[in-house]
Amino acid sequence: MSACFSEGFYKAIFEGCSDAIYVLEPQTSRILDANTCAWQDLGMSREQLLQHSVISLQHGVENEEHWAQISALIYAARPQAFTFIGRHFHQQGTFFPVEVYTSVIEFEGQELFLSIARNLDRTSSQREEFRTKDARLTYALNEASDGLWDWNTQTNEVFFSPQLKRLQGYLPHEMEPCVETWISSVHEADRERVMATLGAHIDGDTDSYEAEYQLKRRDGSYIWVRDRGRVCERDADGKAVRVVGMCHDITRSKQLEEMLRSQASHDHLTGLLNRRAGYIHFSKQLSYAVRYQQQLTICLIDLDHFKNINDAYGHLAGDAALKHFVTLINGVLRRSDSLMRWGGEEFLLLLPNTGIDSAVQLLMQFKSTLRDNPVVLEDESQEIQYTFSAGVSCFPHNSSNLDGLVKAADDALYDAKDDGRDLIMISADTIS
Ligand code: GH3
Ligand code: MG
Ligand code: MG
Repeated sequence: MSACFSEGFYKAIFEGCSDAIYVLEPQTSRILDANTCAWQDLGMSREQLLQHSVISLQHGVENEEHWAQISALIYAARPQAFTFIGRHFHQQGTFFPVEVYTSVIEFEGQELFLSIARNLDRTSSQREEFRTKDARLTYALNEASDGLWDWNTQTNEVFFSPQLKRLQGYLPHEMEPCVETWISSVHEADRERVMATLGAHIDGDTDSYEAEYQLKRRDGSYIWVRDRGRVCERDADGKAVRVVGMCHDITRSKQLEEMLRSQASHDHLTGLLNRRAGYIHFSKQLSYAVRYQQQLTICLIDLDHFKNINDAYGHLAGDAALKHFVTLINGVLRRSDSLMRWGGEEFLLLLPNTGIDSAVQLLMQFKSTLRDNPVVLEDESQEIQYTFSAGVSCFPHNSSNLDGLVKAADDALYDAKDDGRDLIMISADTIS
């Protein structure tokens, strides 16, 4: 019987255990040893597993600072094991739910963490359990893609489901269960609107609550969520007592939407507003100038002999010159000024609250900047010098409407080209 207590005996128990066992270094979260079940569950070889730390295996453990907080909780739970339901990454990029018990052990004077991770997907008894109502609910709360919240308005306590915490990068034991936790996570720019929408529903003005907003994650970044909820209990006076809702991560579709919106309104090469979006912006600026009786000067700018640049240096060099022009002119513009790409090598510059003289002065200053800073081609072997011509018109002197102002500037630009280029011409039109 004494052979049962040999090292081999304990090793056989360790390796034969049907749950994953990890021995961890508390400071670094490095995996010092793990049994067969551990590396098989993760789809790795033993050698691969021993190169990992908890930070790279456990979904939801973000960085070393986060691990330090978790290990403090593990120490604090002594002599009990620290328990939580989380997810472990599989080598193939998927993950699976685990119930993890971590305790502090001592070996040869050194403190170590012993983690036992039960794969909730694996055992048939677990699967059986999930068929019961409670287990299904538990599983839904842990694994559903939507995060659930349940708010008791009388105590101000909120239950945040593990999935909701995971969306925000928290572990199941984190996040203070009170409404302030949620309020402080809603982006400042959205908070007032979201609270008003929720308030209207609680007051009985709407059938349900629904809002899209940015929700702060543990690492300070934001995700976009669609949050929907409903009062499910009111007291005798009709006051809301309990509100329950679901939060869905819509970050990807928001990003896509934003990208499409930006592509529709911006020029791909220079990043400037394109002509269509520029027109809308222009008309807003003009309405503002009319309302506040301010001047608004517009400059139609066309690069001279641009075709020659393409012909002599190639189309890519032409593109580089267009980008160079935009970067350089942006350096002399004020925040309120706006530049848009009006056509191929043609730009419209809007100068709110600015008269003709100041506009011409700004363009002259830019001409000298352009002379001092030619385009340097990527291989730095060549410099390209180019000039521009501009036609300038101003509200209210030349016209009081958008098309009239553009036509006046365009006529002046035509004159500048006709008179030999590299010129700035002021519209001679008077208000019609
Ligand atoms: P002008 O002084 O009379 O304006 O002469 P120009 O050569 O600049 O004018 P023209 O209208 O004859 O040619 C404009 C050229 O600008 C032709 C076109 O290929 C080029 N261009 C327009 N958009 C782009 C672009 O996005 N990239 C490049 N590389 N070239 C462009
Ligand atoms: Mg041109
Ligand atoms: Mg042109």
